[in-house]
Amino acid sequence: MSADTTPLVLVVDDDPTNVVLLSHILKKSGYRVGQANSGRACLEYLQGNSPDLIVLDIRMPEMDGFEVCRRLKANEKTASIPVMFLTAEGRSDENIEAGFGAGAIDFITKPFSRVDVLARIQLVLRQRALQESYKELAHKDPLTGLNNRRRLYERLTEIMSEADRYERVVSLAMIDLDWFKEVNDTHGHDFGDQVLIGFAQLLETQCRLEDVTCRFGGEEFLVVMPNTSIELAASCAERLRIAWEQTTLQSPQGDEIRVTASFGVACSLPGESATDGDNVVRRADRAMYAAKNRGRNRVIRADHVPADFLDPSRSEEAGEPGS
Ligand code: GH3
Ligand code: MG
Ligand code: MG
Repeated sequence: MSADTTPLVLVVDDDPTNVVLLSHILKKSGYRVGQANSGRACLEYLQGNSPDLIVLDIRMPEMDGFEVCRRLKANEKTASIPVMFLTAEGRSDENIEAGFGAGAIDFITKPFSRVDVLARIQLVLRQRALQESYKELAHKDPLTGLNNRRRLYERLTEIMSEADRYERVVSLAMIDLDWFKEVNDTHGHDFGDQVLIGFAQLLETQCRLEDVTCRFGGEEFLVVMPNTSIELAASCAERLRIAWEQTTLQSPQGDEIRVTASFGVACSLPGESATDGDNVVRRADRAMYAAKNRGRNRVIRADHVPADFLDPSRSEEAGEPGS
């Protein structure tokens, strides 16, 4: 869904009369409307906008609707946007086969009736909203709203693959709140939850838009910083550490509580690709453990951890970090 929750429908047709008519119908029903008069204009529009539905004319010069639809479905950024075809040729078997084959969800035949068009569009948008909410459930940690570990690994794979292609580095910060068990034991589990929410909010406000923030486990968080050197990542982590150290939280007893965190920072190495995200996570995790070991509330870089440092709680062979 778009940032403005009013659904955005993109109308694509080389016939301006159709664009004007459909736009008018949609706007009168409260939808936001985008317009494009060719396949190419549609693809350009999608670079800066994410509509919730595309109504796409089939017969257009240069690039027809089938081709536009195939391209949309092949691009990960646009693949989930539902496409409804507009056709003046009725529902011929050939069109239906080609349209659904290209990934369309429905057909509207020209000339169309206002009621029919609106009913179909409403149905598709309702399905889309439901799908988006399922996706949100599958990707988000319910307590903090950050990405969950599963989503993190999906994004990390994509980011590592892109970094490999463009010869860029990816840095990670593994973060674990200090003495958190004591926070729970002293002030209660609900307050502990508030602390986790507070830390997640700090990450959301302090990290860059392109960073991926995640709740990795109980009181462990992870930030993926694409195209970021380990030096820069370590200074970002240090900024976060200080901001968090200075954040005060009010306990149920009315006391001002501060909680600190330990950070381990690592970056991808030359030759590491999409499948090596887990290795970078492991190095960041080990550095985080070194930070605990050296007294907590500090940032340690993976390349500054002595080779003989033994992670006291995690076996290197154990596999899953954070287990
Ligand atoms: P260290 O500085 O070594 O990390 O010590 P710690 O006490 O933070 O670490 P430990 O692993 O001993 O304890 C983690 C605690 O985090 C224990 C667990 O109950 C708590 N925890 C995990 N998930 C949640 C949660 O969702 N809510 C709350 N309130 N507590 C949680
Ligand atoms: Mg902890
Ligand atoms: Mg922990």
